[in-house]
Amino acid sequence: MAVAGAERFKNYIGGEWVDASGGETFESLIPATGEPIGEFPRSTPEDVDRAVAAAKEAFESWRLVPAPKRAEILYRFAAHLVRHKDDLTDLMSREMGKVKAEAGGDVQEAIDMTLYMAGEGRRLFGQTTPSELPDKFQMSVRMPVGVVGVITPWNFPIAIPSWKIAPALVCGNTVVFKPAEDTPLLAERFVELLADAGLPPGVVNVVHGFGEEVGEAIVKHPDVPVITFTGSRETGVRVTKAAADQLKVVHLELGGKNAIIVMEDANLDLAVDGIVWSAFGTSGQRCTAASRVIVHQKIYGEVEKRLVSAAERMRLGPGWEDQTDLGPVINRAAIEKIHSYTGIGKDEGATLLTGGEPASGDGLDDGFYYRPTIFGDVAPDMRIAQEEIFGPTTALIPVKDFDEAIRVANDVKYGLSSSIFTQDVNRAFRAMRDLQTGITYINAGTTGAEVHLPFGGTKDTGNGHREAGQAALDVFTEWKSLYIDYSGKLQRAQIDNAEE
Ligand code: NAD
Repeated sequence: MAVAGAERFKNYIGGEWVDASGGETFESLIPATGEPIGEFPRSTPEDVDRAVAAAKEAFESWRLVPAPKRAEILYRFAAHLVRHKDDLTDLMSREMGKVKAEAGGDVQEAIDMTLYMAGEGRRLFGQTTPSELPDKFQMSVRMPVGVVGVITPWNFPIAIPSWKIAPALVCGNTVVFKPAEDTPLLAERFVELLADAGLPPGVVNVVHGFGEEVGEAIVKHPDVPVITFTGSRETGVRVTKAAADQLKVVHLELGGKNAIIVMEDANLDLAVDGIVWSAFGTSGQRCTAASRVIVHQKIYGEVEKRLVSAAERMRLGPGWEDQTDLGPVINRAAIEKIHSYTGIGKDEGATLLTGGEPASGDGLDDGFYYRPTIFGDVAPDMRIAQEEIFGPTTALIPVKDFDEAIRVANDVKYGLSSSIFTQDVNRAFRAMRDLQTGITYINAGTTGAEVHLPFGGTKDTGNGHREAGQAALDVFTEWKSLYIDYSGKLQRAQIDNAEE
């Protein structure tokens, strides 16, 4: 799997690789150099119609394949991912820009998720309960729903598709997948490996293209009853509105404004490592990135000094080079957005401690690089402490005690991840109870979820669904309750029999 140059790629519909019906294309760029990595079909609603028709037809046989057999294909897919892990890692460091250790982690997450969900092929547990009537048996079973629309972002280009597609498939659904327009080549590889694992034609279809043209057509399509979407809050709201008329199941995983709290008793070496990793890993482009650091005033000066020094030691460069600590951000528009927040932070009166500009020189000029940026003396209500920036920028907020720290951490519209560094077990437990996020870490950064626990957030980070673990199955199945009467007579339930 070599990097493709400006090779031309296709959609995958009904088991065939096909061009977009209109013949138009778009390019995916390498963020480290600005060069094209390939040309992809700029699809239209007509292509979506074809993909949905193929998925709808395939559903009728796929849903009848025994779940352990469906799972066997996922096990083979996981083995292909293992075999191609190095190629995919290298490709991700090019197409998406992550450093290699993180890109390898992204692929590994897909392997782990696929294996976990393949295991569901022999579980998909329902419930049996005793009946209130004699000679009657009852149980609940999970039923597949149909065609699932999968719409993904670019920041976890192999992991996130696996989080959605593996559970959708093992439950017996078929898929129409629209990957992010910044990472279509990785999506193409993902589906190629799925097809090689023996997936029947039409079970997974890929339609490349833009959100308004392809994503929205999937969301509005009457034959797609479930939409699973990961992306920004703004797009999530649009998706919800577009799906509302048809009362679809809409699963949303949206943005974050995640905070790390550092108490005065924290192990500072550990805390600083955790903050640097959470704030600047993936160049701050993780939904779980720590874009706020809430620090007890007694240690604020020390934390600030150590963080600035760590940020200034980071080496920027292409993700595929071993010595790189911080890769590029995804595209030029991201540089502009991140830089606009630097301006906003300064205008609001926060202190720019380091960074605050695009990086240039030393071979960085053609790529999309931004210096790791730290603002100090940030007030909790400033926009840089409230809005998702999605870049290597973090805001240090001083607080006087634990209660204020929790209050400030919760006082944002998002609720994905949170963390506290403290050695006080009482405070740790209070934080686990009181932080209003879907994920909380104690003495670790805000990133590092594992595939067998639910993943997702409260408040504006989502709409109550969860990815990963058993919770994910609820998005991709409907519960059916079954009652089997073996008494040989009509037993009337829901009737008051007390006088009989
Ligand atoms: P985005 O919302 O711009 O795009 C996400 C996907 O939606 C893309 O495939 C895009 O083409 C598509 N899209 C755009 N407009 C659409 C429309 N009108 N209808 C249907 N689809 C449409 O997000 P992004 O920039 O790709 O990703 C970054 C965002 O994703 C951040 O906000 C980040 O926090 C969030 N994210 C959340 C999680 C999570 O699990 N909570 C994980 C990763 C990323």
